[in-house]
Amino acid sequence: VLIPGGKAMQRELVLLGGGHAHLSTLAAIASFRERGFAVTVVQPSPWLYYSGMGPGMLGGSYRPEEIRFATRSVVEGQGGRFVLDRAERIDPVARTVSLAGSAEELRYDVLSCSVGSEVRGGVSAEGVGETVFPAKPIEGLLAAKERVLALAAAGPCRLAVVGGGPSAVEIAGNLHQLCRRFGRNRPEILLYAGRRLLSRQPERLAFLARKALLDKGIRIVEGPYVVRLVSGRLFLDDGSDSQAAMIFDATGVLPGKIFHRSGLPVGPDGGLLVNAFLQSVRYPEIFGGGDCISFEPRPLARVGVYAVRQNLVLRDNLFAALQGGPLTPFSPQEGYLQIFNLGDGVGLFSRRWCIFAGRFAFLLKDWIDRRFMRTYQRAGGTGAVMENR
Ligand SMILES: Cc1cc2nc3c(=O)[nH]c(=O)nc-3n(C[C@H](O)[C@H](O)[C@H](O)COP(=O)(O)OP(=O)(O)OC[C@H]3O[C@@H](n4cnc5c(N)ncnc54)[C@H](O)[C@@H]3O)c2cc1C
Repeated sequence: VLIPGGKAMQRELVLLGGGHAHLSTLAAIASFRERGFAVTVVQPSPWLYYSGMGPGMLGGSYRPEEIRFATRSVVEGQGGRFVLDRAERIDPVARTVSLAGSAEELRYDVLSCSVGSEVRGGVSAEGVGETVFPAKPIEGLLAAKERVLALAAAGPCRLAVVGGGPSAVEIAGNLHQLCRRFGRNRPEILLYAGRRLLSRQPERLAFLARKALLDKGIRIVEGPYVVRLVSGRLFLDDGSDSQAAMIFDATGVLPGKIFHRSGLPVGPDGGLLVNAFLQSVRYPEIFGGGDCISFEPRPLARVGVYAVRQNLVLRDNLFAALQGGPLTPFSPQEGYLQIFNLGDGVGLFSRRWCIFAGRFAFLLKDWIDRRFMRTYQRAGGTGAVMENR
């Protein structure tokens, strides 16, 4: 591309969010740079926390530095530009991104988004960060952990987890572990699971999760839905209400509003609508992966498994979009391995018909997660590894 005066203008790749779907692209920044492309990464935190180990961090099994990727050093260590900010709006016609914290507009030739998702927030009316702690962002669980320990030191109290899915189960189990290991008192833990705990999972999986939680003394409330959380009070749709010193909101996630706000085509839940090439259905220079997309060929569960599997397709398609070449389609696998961390060193394994709970499942998850962390902490060069030590 030539600008007036004849000087070649560098083609710009901008990445919004250093999410799980961008890990391979982040690791390849040096290669993008070698081919003459400028790379800018926008993220509101210098780190990305690995959600698979988030509940374990809450329970005290992992230190925060063990479960995070040093996005900023990975980017800067390879000659990319890191912008500590939140992308606010994309202008797909001018090909610019505006930021929440500055007036700068980032120009792009190719844009890719892995900005993740947010807890729906429909029930959290007041007290977020004080009495109410959403399951995401994962770094919020760090502050929550300190608060749980302070409460447990002060005297008996009640903790509530709202949500009937895997993250609610993992949070409840790890709250129990945290208080058992480090708390002076044992808070009462209630899990408000909606109509039925793990209703979208195989029956045996739900049975084993329920048994493990009940054995820990966690009370599972099923039937009514929590409709509102206000300053430590939970209001249920059967008209009853209850109180808790801390409430964890794990009521499911949705993509943020950025795509809708930017006038981009979105799916039914507001995710960037992409085709099989993880490419916006209207703007071919915009790509995305992970929780923030709606995959047009078929709906995908919002799990890290898909974000991780999209990594290489996204990286290769970004290269192809910048320098020309064929795009690769993403073919999602049908089923996937799940291992839930139930706390107290117990995991719950599920793959097709094979479902079991126990210490081995936890050790396997721990091994897989640590190996994943090592791979990507090293991937971006020594800067990332050093910062995480
Ligand atoms: C408690 C919990 C446990 C989970 N455990 C598992 C598990 O064991 N296995 C599994 O497969 N899945 C798990 N998941 C789901 C998993 O977290 C997501 O599917 C995965 O993180 C999605 O990756 P992503 O790339 O879309 O975004 P994320 O990994 O969430 O990353 C998004 C990044 O974008 C940044 N960002 C956000 N908004 C902006 C913006 N406007 N501008 C710039 N940057 C922005 C964020 O700061 C973040 O760094 C879990 C989820 C939760 C809540």
